[in-house]
Amino acid sequence: MNAIPPFDAELLRRYDRPGPRYTSYPTAPHFTPRFSAADYRRAAEASNSDPIPRPLSLYLHVPFCLSPCFYCGCNRIITRDLERGERYLRYVQKELSHVAPLLDSDREVIQLHLGGGTPNFLKPELMEGMVQALGREFRFSTRADRDFSIELDPRSVNPEGIAHLASLGFNRASLGVQDFDPSVQEAVNRVQSVEETLAVVDACRAHGFRSINVDLIYGLPRQNLAGFARTLDTVIAVRPDRLAVYSYAHLPELFRAQKQIRAEDLLPPEMKLRLLELAIEKLSAAGYRYIGMDHFALPEDELSRAQERGSLQRNFMGYTTHAETDLIGLGMSSISRIGDVYAQNARELGAYEAALDAGRQPVAKGLKLDSDDLLRADLIQHLMCQGEIVPAALEERYGIEFADYFSTALAKLAPLEADGLVRIRPDRIEVTERGRMLMRLVAMCFDRHLDQQNEPLRFSKAI
Ligand code: SF4
Repeated sequence: MNAIPPFDAELLRRYDRPGPRYTSYPTAPHFTPRFSAADYRRAAEASNSDPIPRPLSLYLHVPFCLSPCFYCGCNRIITRDLERGERYLRYVQKELSHVAPLLDSDREVIQLHLGGGTPNFLKPELMEGMVQALGREFRFSTRADRDFSIELDPRSVNPEGIAHLASLGFNRASLGVQDFDPSVQEAVNRVQSVEETLAVVDACRAHGFRSINVDLIYGLPRQNLAGFARTLDTVIAVRPDRLAVYSYAHLPELFRAQKQIRAEDLLPPEMKLRLLELAIEKLSAAGYRYIGMDHFALPEDELSRAQERGSLQRNFMGYTTHAETDLIGLGMSSISRIGDVYAQNARELGAYEAALDAGRQPVAKGLKLDSDDLLRADLIQHLMCQGEIVPAALEERYGIEFADYFSTALAKLAPLEADGLVRIRPDRIEVTERGRMLMRLVAMCFDRHLDQQNEPLRFSKAI
C-alpha cells in the first residue's frame, strides 16, 4: 500500500454500507457492563508480569468545547465556563490515583495523546499541572521518537499557546479544519479563518513540532467542488505531514447536534463521491500516500515509512508507528487496552465523577478478549495496516487451519473477490488497489460480532 488508490465511483457507490472503523476489535459497542474495575486490575497485574512488559501509551480525554460544530459525533460537552476544566482535572487526578499504582513504575510512556472535545480548552496553567501530574505518576520516555500529541482547535489557540505546549513536551499536533468555505462553515457552525489556522501551523513548526496532521471532512452541508478544491489547495500548500479526509456521517438520531443541519443543505451521494474523487486527485498529485482508513501521509513521514517496513500499528488513537503498547485511557469515556482486555470509562461526566466520589475507578464496561477475538483482532490489525492477510503466519501463531477456521469469512469474501476488491493468492489475501478505500468491508467479513441488523444505527457508511 502506498500510492493513493485510483477512484472508482461505480464500485464506491455500490459498496457504500455502514461499518466499523476498527480502531479496536471487537468494536466498542460489544463491550459489556459485566466487566469491572477488578478485571482491569487483574489485566494490569498480568501485563506487569509479562517477561518483557510493554511500554505505555496514555490517552487523556478532555470533553469540553466552546461551541458545537453541528457535524460533530464526538463525546463532548459544550460550555464557555473555563473553570470546568479545573474541576474536571481534579477528577482525572483522582482517577490517576487509582490507575497509576496498578502499573509498574518503570514502564516507559512512549506516547501521550490529548483528545476531545478540545484539549486546548484547558487554561495553560491547568495543562501544565496535568502534564506534570502525569510525569510524576508515570515514567515519560526521554527518547527522541516519543510522541506527545494534541488535538488543536485553531480557533482557540494562539502562537504563545503553541510555544507553551512545546515547552511541556508536545511534538505532534492535529488540527481540525474540515473546510475553509465560509458558507460551509456557517452551515456547520464552525467559523475558522485560513489566517488563524495557518498561524497555528507556522507556530507549531517554529516551536519544533515534529509532525502536523490536518483533518478535513467531505460531504458537509453546502460543500461544492470549487470551495473544497480551494480548501485542499490551501492545506496542501502548507504540506502537513499527515492528512485525514473523513466522510461526513449524517446520523442525527445518534448525534443530537446534527439535527441543526438543514436537510436541504445535505449533499446528494453523487456529490459526496465527487468531493472524495477531488481529494484523491489533489492529494495524489501532491505526492501524498494512502495509509488506510481515510489517512494520507507524505512519503517521508514516519507512517509511510512504517507501512513500508510492515511495522505500522492501529489503535484508538488511529495509525501509529509504535510497536505494541498498553494503552491507558484517562477521563470520561476513554478506552484502555491492557494486554487482552479493553476497558471503557463512564461515558457521561456525572457517572464518571460519581464513581470517583464513591472511591471507585470509573470503569463502566469492557471486554476480555477470548482466543478467537485475539486471532481476529490480529488479522484485522494486519489488514488495516498492511492491506493483506497472511494465512500461514496466523496458522503458525494460533495453531489453526486457516481455510477451515475461516470458512464462513471466506464465503463472505467471495463476492468481494468477484468484484475485484481482494485477490486470493496461495500464500496471502491482498486488498487490491480497487478495494483499498473499502478496506473496512473486507475486515467486516472476519468480524464474528457483527450484527448486520443493527449496524446501520451504530456505524457510519464506508464512503
Ligand atoms: S468537532 Fe471538535 S471542536 Fe467541534 S464540537 Fe466536536 S469536538 Fe468540539
